[in-house]
Amino acid sequence: MLWHARHARSMPWRTEPRDPYAVWISEVMLQQTRVASVAPYFERFMRRFPNVKALAAASLDEVLSLWSGLGYYRRARALHAAAQKIDVDLGGRIPSSIAALLTLPGIGSYTASAIASLAYGEPAAVVDGNVCRVVARLFALRTPIDEKQTRAEIEHHAAGMLDRSAPGAFNEAMMDLGAVVCTPRSPACAACPVAACCGALRSSEQETIPVMPRRRAVPRVELVALVAECDGHVLLGQRSPSGLFGGMWEPLTWEGDRSVARRSKAACAIGAERWRACGTVEHTLTHRMLVVRVFAASARHMKTLAEDQLPAGYDSAGWYTAEQARARGLSVLARKVMACAGVGTD
Ligand code: SF4
Repeated sequence: MLWHARHARSMPWRTEPRDPYAVWISEVMLQQTRVASVAPYFERFMRRFPNVKALAAASLDEVLSLWSGLGYYRRARALHAAAQKIDVDLGGRIPSSIAALLTLPGIGSYTASAIASLAYGEPAAVVDGNVCRVVARLFALRTPIDEKQTRAEIEHHAAGMLDRSAPGAFNEAMMDLGAVVCTPRSPACAACPVAACCGALRSSEQETIPVMPRRRAVPRVELVALVAECDGHVLLGQRSPSGLFGGMWEPLTWEGDRSVARRSKAACAIGAERWRACGTVEHTLTHRMLVVRVFAASARHMKTLAEDQLPAGYDSAGWYTAEQARARGLSVLARKVMACAGVGTD
């Protein structure tokens, strides 16, 4: 803890006293996203939605537009739904117990422990990727880190080490130690405050512990996107809430090749003509690589598409200027596709 007093990382959500709302927003944003990427999004989000009430009162579209670029959009949808639940059912107060936090959309055991300990001082160990690595090395755990048994051992050890008199500060110290000193490669053991009790250091296994899972080949999914323009407007579809990029807006996209898009009901309905191939955009998700062939076309009319004219996975579509498109929730992939077709969104 003495080490942390001098080496704590400065982050915009680490204010004193801790604000449970800020802790919650930051922890959700940090799921699968790096601190440096999250910081500007967090500040923008907090300026626009400074508390639960403001977030609950916002439209999902606006929340998604502020989330645009951060990825994993289901987090934003769940955050919005949870804010509405807290506002209506819990009088606007974010719960402090892990059990109550777990009843909220989008909050799993990790996020519940983080909010409970960091914001309310509940004695719960927070085990993120950095903490996993530190604990695996301290206890020289030689089984693959993604195995259930390894995970259970790590959680057991982390709970045993927890300083119950200052759980929030302890958890942050562990996370910072993993991020700054006990790094994935070349950990700075000479500067480590817990070197004296590190099993991996004792057996010179810092570079091989934790044992990482074997990388699996990521399947490629071939898609085709149509950037259709008419009178300074571009056609955007809104993804259905439950699927990939749920609730986000993007140029209509199909699985398959150009012929699928050309023959589609949507392309026929808007009278898409003068097709031109713009290039290919690649986008890597956790479990698949999307390869999108991008086509631009001119539409003869800005027709509103009926539900049965939309490709699978869309709820609606509409025509928007570049400025209007910016105000909607565009995914990073949608921005890349539009940029490939020469339609600016920044
Ligand atoms: Fe990590 Fe090295 Fe510290 Fe062990 S001694 S916890 S390997 S930095």
